[in-house]
Formats: sequence, C-alpha cells, structure tokens
Amino acid sequence: MAQEDVFKKIVSHCKEYGFVFPSSEIYDGLGAVYDYGQMGVELKNNIKKYWWDSMILLHENVVGIDSAIFMHPTIWKASGHVDAFNDPLIDNKDSKKRYRADVLIEDYLAKIDEKINKEVEKAAKKFGDSFDEAMFRETNPRVKEQQAKRNEVHTRFAKALNDSNLEELRQIIIDCEIVDPISGTRNWTDVRQFNLMFATEMGSTADGAMKVYLRPETAQGIFVNFLNVQKTGRMKIPFGIAQIGKAFRNEIVARQFIFRMREFEQMEMQFFVRPGEELDYFRQWKEIRMKWHKSLGFGDHKYRFHDHDKLAHYANAATDIEFEMPFGFKEVEGIHSRTDFDLGSHEKYSGKKMQYFDPELNKSYTPYVVETSIGVDRMFLSTIAASYCEETLENGESRVVLKLPAPLAPIKLAVLPLVKKDGLPEKAREIIDALKFDFKCQYDEKDSIGKRYRRQDAIGTPYCVTVDHQSLEDNTVTIRYRDTMEQERVSINDLQGIIAEKVNMKKLLTSIS
Ligand code: ATP
Repeated sequence: MAQEDVFKKIVSHCKEYGFVFPSSEIYDGLGAVYDYGQMGVELKNNIKKYWWDSMILLHENVVGIDSAIFMHPTIWKASGHVDAFNDPLIDNKDSKKRYRADVLIEDYLAKIDEKINKEVEKAAKKFGDSFDEAMFRETNPRVKEQQAKRNEVHTRFAKALNDSNLEELRQIIIDCEIVDPISGTRNWTDVRQFNLMFATEMGSTADGAMKVYLRPETAQGIFVNFLNVQKTGRMKIPFGIAQIGKAFRNEIVARQFIFRMREFEQMEMQFFVRPGEELDYFRQWKEIRMKWHKSLGFGDHKYRFHDHDKLAHYANAATDIEFEMPFGFKEVEGIHSRTDFDLGSHEKYSGKKMQYFDPELNKSYTPYVVETSIGVDRMFLSTIAASYCEETLENGESRVVLKLPAPLAPIKLAVLPLVKKDGLPEKAREIIDALKFDFKCQYDEKDSIGKRYRRQDAIGTPYCVTVDHQSLEDNTVTIRYRDTMEQERVSINDLQGIIAEKVNMKKLLTSIS
C-alpha cells in the first residue's frame, strides 16, 4: 500500500476509534487544531508518564515544574522570540498556497537522497554478498552526479539559512526548479519572514491592556524559575528541570494531521551544567533520549539523528531525533546545547542575577544549558503510525490491529462474557472489580466474541479475557494475546501477575535505566 494511503487510513482510524477528532468539528473544524478522544487521552497520558518517569524517577538530579502559559512579555523579548521566531515563507502565485521556503528545499534534498538510496539498493541486490557500498558510492557515475548536486545545493542552503539571506533561499528554489506540488508551476513570490507567536491582551489599565503572548515553547518557564528551583530544592549543578505543557505557534503550513498543530504539547527538560562541560552532556543526553525512543520496540532503523544546518541564535550544537513517519523521516525531538544565552539574556533584561554559586569551584557563574524537547503530539503520531497493521488471517478474514507497546495501550484488558446470561456477566464484573485498581479495563458483552476481539485489536488492547461456563466451575478463563492471537486457559488468580508483567511502565523504564 502506498504510504500516502497508509497515512490517510491512520487519520481515519484515529477518528473512528476515539483517538483524535478535528477541533470544533460541528462548525467545520479549526485549522491545525485537534481534540483527543477517549482512547487518545489515555495513550497521550501514558506517553507523558513514560517521559515524566524516565526523567524524574530515573534521574535523582532532575525535578519537575508546571509553569503558567502566560508570562511577562519581556521574557519573549529576552528569549529572542519577538525578533527572531520567524519562518521564511513563499507563496505560489497560481495555487495561492503558502509554503515554508526551507521545507521546500529540504524536501528537494530528501528526494535526491531517495534517488541515491534506490540506486544503492538496486546494486546491492544485483551484486549480493560481494557488494561494496562505499566503493559503489564513490565510483558509480549516476550516484556521484546526484551526490555532487546534493552537496552543492546543501552548502548553498545552509549558508543562506545562517545568513538569513531570503533572496538566496528564493534563488535556490528557482535554480533547483522546485515546483508547487498543487499547481505544478514555478511562479513564486519573494520570501518573507513571518513571526509565529500568538498575541493577546491581558487586563485593562488606564494606559490600556498589556500585550501578552501564548508561549511558543515551555522552556522559558523553566529558565525564569531556575533560581527558585535551585534554591528551594537545594539543587547542585549539574541538575535538570522538566516540564510538560501546552505551547502555541501560528504555523503557516499546518498540514499532516497532528504533526504540525497550532496548539500542541511539549515535554522539555533543561539541564544546567558548568560552562565548558555542555558538549559532553549534549552527547550524553542524545544517547539517553535515543534509547528512550528505541526501547519502545518499533525498530531501530526507524530513527536517525539529523544535525542542524542552521543553529538557532542560542545554540552551539543541535540535533533532531527523526522518526520514519508514513510521509518520510521527520523531527520528533530536538536536543540543543543552548549555551548561557537564555539565563544571560534574562539577567540582562530583568536586572536580576541568574548566577549559581558553585561550592566546589568556589565561584559564581551563569550555567550552560542542554535541553531535550519533544512534542507529545508528534510522539503520539509516531506511536500510532508504527503500531498500525493490517493483517490477513488464516481464514481469509482481515484485521486492523494497533500493536502498541503494552505500557502505552489505552485499555490494558477487555473482559468478555461469552454470553449475556447464566451468571457470566456477573463473573466478568467480578474480575474487573478485582483488577480495575491496577489496569484500565473494559467490559464488552455485545456481538460475537470474534467481533469483540476485532474492536479490541483496533484500539490496541494487549489482553482479552473471555469468561465462559467453565469459569464458573473452576475459576479459569481464556486469555487471548493481541499480537499472536494465541489463547490460553489460565486461573483467574493468575491474571494480575500475567498482565502486570507486560503492561507496567516499570519494565519499560528498567530497559532504559
Ligand atoms: P519544526 O522544524 O518541525 O517546525 P522545530 O524545530 O521548530 O520544529 P522545536 O522548536 O525544536 O521544533 O520544538 C521541539 C519539539 O516540539 C519538536 O521536536 C516537535 O516535536 C514539537 N513541535 C514543534 N512545533 C510543533 C507543532 N507545530 N505541532 C506539534 N509539535 C510541534
């Protein structure tokens, strides 16, 4: 199936099974804003818990906060967002569609990479074990030509971004003959900068209301509380502050479902270190975060690091963790070495000292910061995309199954009485009453057992327990495993242990600690 079709199916699956709904749907929706349904909120909460526990439980020196969305407007001046939180935009005059100029060029580069990889794959198949990939890349004329073209465009692109040279960005689009995917034409406007922050007004005074912003990232709430936490928590450098919360960006090109939203959620952790040690910690956090992702078991080949071509105004190193979505490798998380830019700048704008006294060095300094910043919604999308499977069964029927990692599944266990009589529903309820304190359970007595299994497969429930007449006699049930569809007769007394083994977050956390 084409990846585009897979993506469409995922979007409709999310709606059909209560994971994600378009916001304000009865009013025809609101662009790039979505609501999470009854299943979505559980999955989202489990993702957040996995992240939070991995930060707070596994690192003695990381603590959490929950700062307000509204902050003093000068914070956004100090952080650079008022002046520099811009996207370079370009319009196609025929389709009247607006694009990010940098994304058009990145997609063009990705297409060249794809061509090269196809050539390599073809040759690898042809030559089998004797294939020398490095040699092939160096000598094959078609690959060499594509690679040279890529390198040239990439160098120009990186320089244009670093110099904020908008004319050059446009020129690259023209020179590479990039066309609008909708109109198919090259009738482009100039490239312009567009600020992504939402502004609103707070209160009303004699001088008028104060202009405030909806935060475009959660990080600044951590920076301005750095000393509060350090002092009240008696934290010693190195230490981290973690936060999960909403962020808002007036994204121009808001497509691809929950990948790019105007209201979204971030999980960010700022790690404060001694100046000069930041790049070591940057490397450490890169590894820790990659391990967190890979432990979910979606396949190591689905992840890669992508180092930034253009470092943000605050960074001295930056990389993205990219995940293979149905529409290609895309950023899910950013890891940035933010230097002392933010604390230094807040010190300047607020006039308050943001320094730390290091008792071991016996001196004060402005700490450097390494941050890990992941979008909950992108993590949600990658989790659903990696888990979505359509399978043909031995009897010719098909099933859609979400092979979610068990600790993330919204419902851990469905309890199904074989028939709606003879005391079986009551027995099923008894099981739920015993297990509901540990696991989110669902009771279902409607339709055939086969149909009920399909419904649970579609929402990713790892275990179904069927109560039959034998259950009343010997206190046993059949437990059915989602991925293998195998069934086993087990004692009701053993259910708790069997289910906990797989669904508890502890196992996942143990694998990364
Ligand atoms: P992009 O280049 O895709 O716009 P970014 O580099 O601006 O992303 P960061 O500022 O590094 O993103 O934000 C950290 C994380 O927040 C991203 O890795 C992503 O997971 C998430 N994120 C950022 N913008 C959005 C958005 N509009 N919708 C959903 N998640 C987002």
